[in-house]
Amino acid sequence: MKRIVVLGSTGSIGTNALEVIKNAEGKFKVVALSGHKNHKLLLEQIREFTPECVAVGTEEGYKEIKAEFPNMRVYLGDEGLKELAMLKDYDILLTAVSGAVGIEATVEGIKNSKRIALANKETMVAAGSYINRLLTEYPKSEIIPVDSEHSAIFQSLLGGKKKEVEKIIITASGGTFRGKKKEELEKVKVEDALKHPNWSMGKKITIDSSSLVNKGLEVIEAHELFGVDYDHIDVLVHPQSVIHSMVQFKDKAVIAQLGAPDMKLPIQYAFTYPKRESNPVFETLDFMKMSTLTFEKVDNETFKGVELAYRAGRTGKSMPAVFNAANEVAVELFMKGKIGFLTIYEIIEGAMDRHEPVEINSVETVKTVDGETRNWVYTEYGK
Ligand code: NDP
Ligand code: MG
Repeated sequence: MKRIVVLGSTGSIGTNALEVIKNAEGKFKVVALSGHKNHKLLLEQIREFTPECVAVGTEEGYKEIKAEFPNMRVYLGDEGLKELAMLKDYDILLTAVSGAVGIEATVEGIKNSKRIALANKETMVAAGSYINRLLTEYPKSEIIPVDSEHSAIFQSLLGGKKKEVEKIIITASGGTFRGKKKEELEKVKVEDALKHPNWSMGKKITIDSSSLVNKGLEVIEAHELFGVDYDHIDVLVHPQSVIHSMVQFKDKAVIAQLGAPDMKLPIQYAFTYPKRESNPVFETLDFMKMSTLTFEKVDNETFKGVELAYRAGRTGKSMPAVFNAANEVAVELFMKGKIGFLTIYEIIEGAMDRHEPVEINSVETVKTVDGETRNWVYTEYGK
């Protein structure tokens, strides 16, 4: 039985992970859970999964959990995620919090020589080079991607050797606004951006999908996870989201992974790899219900999220951390109605233009760059 710590259990990936665990016939045991503001859901999860300890983001949540479970170890605030990652007796750390807040916990999980089932792509974008260095220092630790594209690439790479890879092709649904032009995007509302055609996800990543910044983050994530340079990573719009991504090898063979648009499979695969296991909650892909699979180029004129990410990635050093932090604040301001949709790109570009890249040697450097970028965006756009 694999023992699992779930960071971000109250979110979209977190609840999907608990579905996987519940239906996996005793293959997994939940050791710890974390929620931030939604302590009501966290309480329900504690009752159902009986973890040994939990972390929560609010005082109110802390008090309610303690009142019902007086003997349980409960951590309050940012340190909680780290504390859970540092527990000794577990096998897999699922990092499913949203945003750069996941970095320190991931670092502790690696230092603790654990398997990291990585959903929190912002960690790999903001701190990828540092994380990769740590992985060589702690060779018993490993990262298995949960992001569906990266899980697909990870699975496809098993079809050949690393030196035989010609390129990685990351597929993109194109998001809610696929086909729209700049003029139409000027007035879109938060509700519009939150309607994703294929996937049900947390709010931040859904907005990121609409702006294609999510795909940009995924390009950098792929570079960091698989060590493939940016000239050999392509993005291809595939609106049906059936092919989750592909790898083209030197002999032009293309190996892809296909499946229903459901995160449960990549989540469980990150738990069971190198094995594959059945689970009654998995959907069978019905080819007869699929009329066509189509492909398009990314409209980089309108959706700048991908090109800005290539620029950040190619610049390297701390630039991807700036790309990520500027976007996180931009999305927050857009959701609060303080900026228009297209201003998201303006903010990312502005933050990158003014940044002098530095080498990322520690979590502190990432935090400094992240903090400076956030402050600049709040000062310029947050009033
Ligand atoms: P959600 O917004 O649904 O969930 C985020 C989780 O993180 C919640 O448990 C939330 O707690 C917690 N959280 C938020 N802020 C903080 C904080 N400051 N400190 C501690 N915990 C916090 O996000 P998703 O599940 O959609 O995404 C999670 C990660 O997985 C992201 O990095 C995303 O990019 C990635 N991902 C998601 C996919 C998806 O299908 N959803 C697909 C691929 C990758 P609470 O709700 O209690 O406040
Ligand atoms: Mg993805």
